[in-house]
Amino acid sequence: MKKYDYLIVGAGFAGSVLAERLASQLNKKVLIIDKRNHVGGNCYDYYDKAGVLIQKYGAHLFHTKYKEVFDYLSQFTKWRRYEHRVKACVDKKIYDLPINLNTINKFFGKDLNSKECSNYLNKIRVKIKKPKDSEEQVVSKVGWDIYKRFFEKYTLKQWEIHPRDLEPEVTARIPIRFNKDDRYFGDKYQFMSKNGFTELFRKILGHKNITVKLQTSYKKIKDRVKFDKLIFTGCIDEFFNYKFGQLPYRSLKFKWKTYNKPFYQEYTVINFPNDYKYTKSVEIKHATGQKISKTTVGQEFPAASGEPYYPIPQSKNKKLYEKYAGLSNELKDVYFVGRLGEYKYLNMDQVIYNSLKLFNKLSRK
Ligand code: FAD
Ligand code: UDP
Repeated sequence: MKKYDYLIVGAGFAGSVLAERLASQLNKKVLIIDKRNHVGGNCYDYYDKAGVLIQKYGAHLFHTKYKEVFDYLSQFTKWRRYEHRVKACVDKKIYDLPINLNTINKFFGKDLNSKECSNYLNKIRVKIKKPKDSEEQVVSKVGWDIYKRFFEKYTLKQWEIHPRDLEPEVTARIPIRFNKDDRYFGDKYQFMSKNGFTELFRKILGHKNITVKLQTSYKKIKDRVKFDKLIFTGCIDEFFNYKFGQLPYRSLKFKWKTYNKPFYQEYTVINFPNDYKYTKSVEIKHATGQKISKTTVGQEFPAASGEPYYPIPQSKNKKLYEKYAGLSNELKDVYFVGRLGEYKYLNMDQVIYNSLKLFNKLSRK
């Protein structure tokens, strides 16, 4: 039986970054496994039948305020400058999203400047000092009309939960702006990995001390290999055999269509808060910059069952997670990290940041 210093479960960002750090900095022998047939976790991209580079698990755009995360990834990829922009289609009109000065003026038929816009919103917003849910979070910034047309139905579609029953941090992911900045993210570093995410993962995992095994679940392999330490980036409730009950996750289904023309829609992402069963239409080619005569567009349909894409931000779920986290603290040499391991709605840069932090902790031991 082969012996490894570390078994890492999950070859998404959490698992891959830790594998690379442990292998290259501490000379550890690492076995990283994934039950899927590819590396990259939810950031995986591939060339479809038409030759278009698409992201299998929905639109993934890299952005971060953390210089250390950007510098870390820069060792493994060249970058393509790309600042993400999203439009919302409401009543057949296209609006900037996040809500900004243009959105407010177009929606209310006004011609306000930044100062006037701030004053106007101050009049229509609901005065709540500390919003306790996602509905209050939005109405306390922009009032009921925008909330109803841009947020309420989208949120219901995305989560099948009313914004009133979701933590404020869900809608707070999207800023409200009084200027014309129409970028989706405000972070300093916003780039696409030049040749796609999968290529980046191959580089991260290319170290000689790393063995990658795909289509291999933790259950299948745990008694067949020897290892000193375990890093688990899958669902923490699954690891503990659902001892306290299942943590809920939200999933998505995707519908793809290829078109025989260079571009299908004008923007990378168009959100449909009120119409259709899908939340967004994504043409990632705008972001990858691929030069090819065809294009592929994906629609994202939220779903109750399927792959666990989103931890659901509700306080009862946080409490359940805390029970599992308590159990995990009692284990020696077993570490949980990543979006599923920490049961947190984390972006990829936050996952990388947390993984680098865990690496620092492990290297001090
Ligand atoms: P994952 O990428 O989920 O990787 C975990 C891996 O573990 C999976 O490959 C899984 O197969 C494997 N695994 C789980 N259990 C087991 C087991 N028992 N045995 C073997 N293998 C197992 N972030 C951004 O920064 N920007 C974006 O634009 C963005 N868009 C997103 C869009 C969607 C639709 C989704 C769902 C997420 C988005 N994210 C985005 C978040 C991003 O996907 C995550 O932050 C990141 O992928 C998390 O990395 P991870 O390694 O924690 O988890
Ligand atoms: N949201 C919304 N309308 C939109 C876009 C987002 O109501 O057009 C809300 C919705 O609740 C969503 C949350 O804001 O879940 C966070 O949006 P984000 O785009 O960050 O979600 P993700 O990219 O993680 O799916």
